[in-house]
Amino acid sequence: MDATNQTHVEINLNAIKANAKAIKKHTGSKLIAVVKADAYGHGVIPVTEALQNIADMFAVATVDEGIELRQAGIQNPILILFSPLPDLAVDIVDYDLTAAVDNWSLAEQLNRVILDRNHQSQPVKIKKAKIHINVNTGMNRCGVRFTEANRFIKDLESLSLLEMEGVFTHFATADENDQSFAQIQLNRFHSVIKNTLNISLKHVANSAAALTIPESHLDVVRTGLSLYGIYPAKEKPVQLQPALSWKARIGWIDYIEPGEGISYGLTFKTQNRIRVAGIQVGYGDGYPRALSGKGEVLIGGIRRPILGRVCMDMIVCRLMSTDNITVGDEVVLIGKQGNEEIGVDEIADHANTISYEILTNIGKRVKRIYK
Ligand SMILES: *Cc1c(COP(=O)(O)O)cnc(C)c1O
Repeated sequence: MDATNQTHVEINLNAIKANAKAIKKHTGSKLIAVVKADAYGHGVIPVTEALQNIADMFAVATVDEGIELRQAGIQNPILILFSPLPDLAVDIVDYDLTAAVDNWSLAEQLNRVILDRNHQSQPVKIKKAKIHINVNTGMNRCGVRFTEANRFIKDLESLSLLEMEGVFTHFATADENDQSFAQIQLNRFHSVIKNTLNISLKHVANSAAALTIPESHLDVVRTGLSLYGIYPAKEKPVQLQPALSWKARIGWIDYIEPGEGISYGLTFKTQNRIRVAGIQVGYGDGYPRALSGKGEVLIGGIRRPILGRVCMDMIVCRLMSTDNITVGDEVVLIGKQGNEEIGVDEIADHANTISYEILTNIGKRVKRIYK
């Protein structure tokens, strides 16, 4: 079956590569490519394969996500962004993952597993576990508090089988116009790293900071969203190309008589006789139900309003009676068609959320096709 007969996304891997290069050029720093949550819905294996010669390191959220990359043969360093529970130390060591560490139990457990592994290997090869210290400078969701970080790092020096390769923090407000809190976080981070000259990778910049806060670039930037060609805020200091388009096909076309309703709850009422198209995509695919009666799609290069509620598997759009459109024609939910374009941000605005959530919600049922 031709996968494009059903709702699918098309992913332009060259756009992702070009975005990664543009970010490296703009920042002049190394790149940790953030590919958590299935590369923000773009498909983690093809995306990491495309970036393996550009990214210095990959970052994911969980140990399972790291193992998935190793099993696919990815050899770049892989950072787990959030301190895993200590029981996962064996997997971290055996899959050669680099853990973010913010607590003593994980550090101790990693050290112990390395000790065991070194004992088991004959002839004895001394191996160490690389770690990055996660410092909390004000985001307050994880990390060692900045006022405690130097003491924590000093204590870690007693665990001789750990290698402190990195130290990092995360901004809470880098995507906002007012950068004063980002500057406070940066100052707090500097108060820690002025004492850690032996740790080689200091990093703070997410996409928003990589684009707009030059003094945050340091040794390496840690970007996700911008790799996929989406801007975290209004400023566009670097030219990025959106990598993903979401498409479907028209499945049904008919005329609806005046005074009838459309879709669940019959919330849209026709005043005149109108021509409509049924399209097989819905919230079961991650297309937000919040777009009921608000969103638009592209058909024949023209914006078409969604009429009534988004269902689990279908939406209904208005056509013009004069359109030369038939069943099987392409519908663009996200992306370009003719001279029109619908961005992820437009969908996110209608759904009262952020582009990140729209991308990571694109469902399993939606095939990923790579160009
Ligand atoms: C997700 C994440 C990033 C990437 O953020 P973007 O805004 O997508 O660039 C960086 N660092 C941490 C700790 C994250 O959780």
